Amino acid sequence: MHAANHRSDAQALFDRREIEKPLDALQRIWGYPDFRGKQADVIQHVMTGNDALVLFPTGKGKSLCFQLPGVCMPGVTVVISPLVALMRDQVDELRALGIEAECLWSQQSEEESRSARSKLRAGKLKLIYVTPERAVLPGFSDLFGNVPISLIAIDECHCVSSWGHNFRKDYLGLGKLKELYPGVPRIALTATADPHTRDDIIRQLQLDDAAVFVDSFDRPNITYHIAERDNARTQLLRFLQRHDGSSGIVYCLSRRKVEETAEWLNKQGIKARAYHAGMDPGVKADNQDAFRMEEDLCLVATVAFGMGINKPNVRYVAHLDLPSSVEGYYQETGRAGRDGLPSEAFMIYGMQDIVQRQRMIDEGDATDEIKRIERAKLNALLGICETAGCRRKAILSHFGEAAPARCGNCDTCKNPVETWDGSDASIKALAGVYRTGERFGAAHVIDVLHGKVTERTKKFGHDRLAVFGVGKELSVHAWQSVFRQLLALGYIRVAHDEYGALKLEPSAHGVFKKDVAVILRRDTIDTVRKRERGKPVVAATRAGLAPENDKLFQALRAERLAISKSLGVAPYVVFPDTTLIAFATIRPTTEQQMLSISGVGATKFARYGEQFMAIIVEHFGN
Ligand code: ADP
Ligand code: ZN
Repeated sequence: MHAANHRSDAQALFDRREIEKPLDALQRIWGYPDFRGKQADVIQHVMTGNDALVLFPTGKGKSLCFQLPGVCMPGVTVVISPLVALMRDQVDELRALGIEAECLWSQQSEEESRSARSKLRAGKLKLIYVTPERAVLPGFSDLFGNVPISLIAIDECHCVSSWGHNFRKDYLGLGKLKELYPGVPRIALTATADPHTRDDIIRQLQLDDAAVFVDSFDRPNITYHIAERDNARTQLLRFLQRHDGSSGIVYCLSRRKVEETAEWLNKQGIKARAYHAGMDPGVKADNQDAFRMEEDLCLVATVAFGMGINKPNVRYVAHLDLPSSVEGYYQETGRAGRDGLPSEAFMIYGMQDIVQRQRMIDEGDATDEIKRIERAKLNALLGICETAGCRRKAILSHFGEAAPARCGNCDTCKNPVETWDGSDASIKALAGVYRTGERFGAAHVIDVLHGKVTERTKKFGHDRLAVFGVGKELSVHAWQSVFRQLLALGYIRVAHDEYGALKLEPSAHGVFKKDVAVILRRDTIDTVRKRERGKPVVAATRAGLAPENDKLFQALRAERLAISKSLGVAPYVVFPDTTLIAFATIRPTTEQQMLSISGVGATKFARYGEQFMAIIVEHFGN
């Protein structure tokens, strides 16, 4: 390896144009007409021998930022990836494009491993995927013989930070790469939007000299919808029925709930499978594989199911429980719609989620400092759940990004929520908490406000309090909403060391004294339900496809499935949905027309072009 001279070598080759121009390679191999966002800048930067930190949201096309340099530069690009499933997916995709790529992982068969290593030494590979622990193993560089390493890519680089989610101990060792391979450019990539984690990545990976490329974290094709829990299963079913025929993920907090929900969905006629860390490894792998291969499967999972998902056509992500934080919510919902087609993020939550989550924090064995951070994270998330404004704006501003006041593509923008001056109601609610001695949960306080004579109200003499019966003007449901919002706004908290009793926070004073007005959102559970019921059931996969092209689209989809099964790869490896939609709309029947469609490169055309054209010709005029 002549690593030390690498920077100047790369520049010289680039200047002499011995390397294929990136745009030419993009069009010839990937069949994409142009780069997206900042891809071209990143690629130019690393191909001239410099380090880069790439912070793009999911779906913006991070992989291309190292795959394309890997193809164009002399030598081999090493890609470090945390999960075998991810590595194999990408290798499948690269091979489908006619690019020589392999991966090395511990449980690989001896034969596969030997074949990969001999291709590597012979200089036949453009990219090699490895796990983080292997990359820093002594003797790793011996595997390459005389073949130079062109670039080192560290994918999912947020795994190096114990701040964010998905911390992986073996990522910590990757800081050594700088000394181990001096002069070899490094590119680290992540979809993590949290500034604290970013700083940590730079420090841990010694990327001080790297240029940082940040793209907007907005995911405009994802519709956000957060609803109050009414009847969770009915709400979920109604949501899933709108997505009939496409794939998505349903997140639950506990393993048991995952199993029960999956079983129940199957009984309702929705094809569902379960996924969580406690499952038999064989079944787990099988279910994950089914999710990759099938186009209409609902995967019910805990957050253990996450990073390994490369599938571009995940059409929806539903949360049946509150996620851990805004970061978690953003990451999990971000798994929808990588292909840029319309997708939906749906969450239902209620008072119980807040109580449960606060209990988990309080009863955990973290330090007080960490607990304080976790509470702040929970409150930030509740703020997004309870906002009367645009959800997208709230999410983006959490990450420090400016956004227009209204996105037009979230529930609160589509059905603006009414707000009301809840100052008087809040005073009653807070007085109810105070007068009952800050020893009870919302249910009992609501009984008191309603003037309901129960065993408890009698036993504690609460039927003799001045607040007894002062809140009859609001329903139980409306009072629950008031308490939830008071929690989200930080006027009260739940004390878990006292069986979930509500306590006043110091800021409640201002409400009592009428220093602050408490503006609350009016819950729209009923109106949302009515509106949704009337919506036609259209599989979002076919979004933007005219009805007269649907038959052709289905035929093309069937062909793709047959090819993918015969090759043992996921359907999107053959062609993504976006390309099939373009086939069905534009109906190319010549090589030239076919190659002009995004996603059709030279290799894919040579392999599958005729087959798909034959179907188009057959359907032509139908
Ligand atoms: P990320 O890793 O950032 O989530 P991917 O690399 O998986 O995103 O890319 C998302 C999708 O966008 C993939 O299907 C990919 O092939 C496609 N894509 C990437 N770059 C381009 C481009 N320049 N033009 C068209 N499609 C692209
Ligand atoms: Zn909005």
